[in-house]
Amino acid sequence: MGPDRQEPPPRSAEGRALLSVVVPCFDEEAVIGEAHRRLAAALGTLPGGMDFELVYVDDGSRDATPRLLREIQQADRRVRLVVLSRNFGQDLAITAGLEHAAGDAVVLIDADLQDPPEVIPEMVERWRQGVAVAYGQRTEREGESRFKLWTAAAFYRLIARVSEVSIPRNTGNFRLMDRAVVEAFLSMPESARFVRGMVTWTGFRQEPVPFRRAARFAGDTKWPLRHMIRLGLDAVLSFSDLPLRLLTWFGAAALAASLAGAGLLLALRPVGGAAATVVVAAVFLGGVQLLVAGVLGEYLGRIYREVRRRPLYLVAERLGFATEGGPGRRPPSGGAPRRAPAA
Ligand code: UDP
Ligand code: MG
Repeated sequence: MGPDRQEPPPRSAEGRALLSVVVPCFDEEAVIGEAHRRLAAALGTLPGGMDFELVYVDDGSRDATPRLLREIQQADRRVRLVVLSRNFGQDLAITAGLEHAAGDAVVLIDADLQDPPEVIPEMVERWRQGVAVAYGQRTEREGESRFKLWTAAAFYRLIARVSEVSIPRNTGNFRLMDRAVVEAFLSMPESARFVRGMVTWTGFRQEPVPFRRAARFAGDTKWPLRHMIRLGLDAVLSFSDLPLRLLTWFGAAALAASLAGAGLLLALRPVGGAAATVVVAAVFLGGVQLLVAGVLGEYLGRIYREVRRRPLYLVAERLGFATEGGPGRRPPSGGAPRRAPAA
C-alpha cells in the first residue's frame, strides 16, 4: 500500500503476461466450487501467451468457505488464498486481493457467478487494445427482486446527481484494470473505500463491456438494505460536498423564515399568537440544528476514521504465495507477493 510499493510490474516466469483474477468471498460455500470450475474453464480460453492466477480472498466467512478454498488451493497451483482475520466488507476484501495480485492486469469478479467469467477474455482483448479499465456493464438483470432493482436504479441516479465523479450506470465491481490503475488505486490511502468510485476517479481509458447479469447461482445476497445505505452514504459523502452545501441552504432558509415570521408577528400582533409562534419557531430551529449536527457528525466520523490510520484489513493466513503463512497486512517483502514457485 502506498508509496513504498514501487516495484516494476511482475511477470510470470517465462516473461509472459500475467492476468490476476481477484475474487472476494463471504459465506459462499454454496457457490465457490462451481465458481472456481467456471473461472478456471473461462480463463483456459485466454489468448495464447498469457498466464493467469486466481486470488481468492476469504472475508471472514462463517461457513465452510475457507475450508473449501483451502482445498481448491491445494489442488490448483494457480490459486492464491488470502484469509482475512474477520469480515471487513467487500471493498476492503477487494483491496486485500488487489494488494496480493501480481498480474499485469487484474480482474475483479464476484464469487456468486452473477458476473459471467466467460466475459473475461473479452475484457482481456480490450486491454490488449490499450483500454486501461474494461468494466462490465449489465444490460439486463434476471432473478432480482423489484425492490433490489429499484434501489439500484435510485442509487445510480443519486450518485450521478451529486457526485464529483460520474460512476457509469449498471456497473458493479466486475472489471479488468491495468497494472497502472491497480497501483493508483492502492496508492489511495482512505479507509472508506468505494471501489467503483475510486477506480473511476483514476481516469485513464475506461470503456464498458456489455454483459447480461445472471441470477445469483446459489446462496443469498450479502448486501442487505443496511449495506446499500452504507454504500450510498460512502458514495455521497466521499465523492461530494453536497450535504455540506445543503446545510448552508437549510440554515439560510431557516433564518429567512424566522425573520419573515418575526416581521409578520410585529405587523399583525395576533391575540395569543406569541406563545404559539415561540413553540413553532423553537421546534423548527431545533430541527434544523439537529440536521446540521447530524451531517457535520457524518463528516467528522469519516475524518476520525481516516486519521486513525488503522490498517485497512488484517490477514490471518496466506496460501500459494512465495512468502506464505503469517498474519500481517502485507507480505513481509513489502510489495506485491511473488508467485509461488511451480511445483
Ligand atoms: N462479499 C465480501 N464481503 C462482504 C460481502 C460480500 O467479500 O462482506 C463478496 C461476496 O462473497 C461476493 C461479492 O462480495 O463475492 C458480492 O457480494 P453479493 O453477491 O452479496 O452482492 P450483490 O451481488 O448483491 O451486490
Ligand atoms: Mg451478488
